[in-house]
Amino acid sequence: QSWFIGLDGGGTKTKAALCDSAGRIVGLAEGEGSNPLSRPWEQVRETLQVLMEQVCRRAGVGADEVAGVFLGLAGADRPQVKAWIEDAFLPVWGERLHIDNDAVAALYSGTWGSPGIVLIAGTGSIAYAVAKDGRRHRVGGWGYLLGDEGSGYDLGRQTVVAVLRAWDGRGEQTLLSELLLRHYGIEQPDQFIARFYSSPNPRKELAEASVLAEQAAASGDPLAIRLIQQAADSLGELVETCRTRAGQDLPVVLAGGLLAADTLLRRQLLRSSRYPVVIPEAPPVAGCLAAALLRVNLPVDKQVKARL
Ligand code: BGC
Repeated sequence: QSWFIGLDGGGTKTKAALCDSAGRIVGLAEGEGSNPLSRPWEQVRETLQVLMEQVCRRAGVGADEVAGVFLGLAGADRPQVKAWIEDAFLPVWGERLHIDNDAVAALYSGTWGSPGIVLIAGTGSIAYAVAKDGRRHRVGGWGYLLGDEGSGYDLGRQTVVAVLRAWDGRGEQTLLSELLLRHYGIEQPDQFIARFYSSPNPRKELAEASVLAEQAAASGDPLAIRLIQQAADSLGELVETCRTRAGQDLPVVLAGGLLAADTLLRRQLLRSSRYPVVIPEAPPVAGCLAAALLRVNLPVDKQVKARL
């Protein structure tokens, strides 16, 4: 029997799973985020290492019985980051290791290896395609300093900014003020400074506020509705640009915390969509396992999909 490990890592959390060659998942584990652009690499390395050990231990599988390891990590397609990961894990896994962006894993959780486009709106955002000719196209996903429009971080940050503007007297009053103060356990918006600037992962903490934007919008708060509309427009732009480059007839897989449920953001995005949409039934970590199986030419047929 051979075994496969998949790791799906974003800015907020990392999921690991282990399956056999028939796609039966026998071990699962979850840990902190693993985007080395938002947590120190040493900590990310530790997270990845511990998760790989945990899934193996839980399933009683030894590392030498593992035939493939697929890491789908946000930020991992940058040469520097890839080099860190290789330095740490190639000595252990050698040829069995495959490193890719988290977008590929999310795509495969909806297409199981067929061409398509994935739109992720999680802590970060990206549109990513594997076209019919096998070429890859990436739109956005440039991280929180340079891009990630429409992501949880972007929407969350705008939400906090709106509350600070209202507190200053520069912006309109919004239900978000009350929701955010309660969520972050502070009394006044000026305490946000200490809260975010001293956080070990401010990106993750700011992204949490995106959920509150959904809540405020559901209660009819006009500002929250506008912020969500802006986020939907940004995500729509990512997808449309990616379709123009990769192919208009490709299915679009929606992934990431902001699009996983029937949110207002997702409804706004889909209002103007003219493409086939796939809402994956399996989590992205199953896409990692599918990618690991496909790499050694094991078929990801209907039976395997059901197991993954
Ligand atoms: C990262 C990308 C990732 C995207 C979605 C961005 O912040 O830079 O590599 O694909 O988030 O998770």
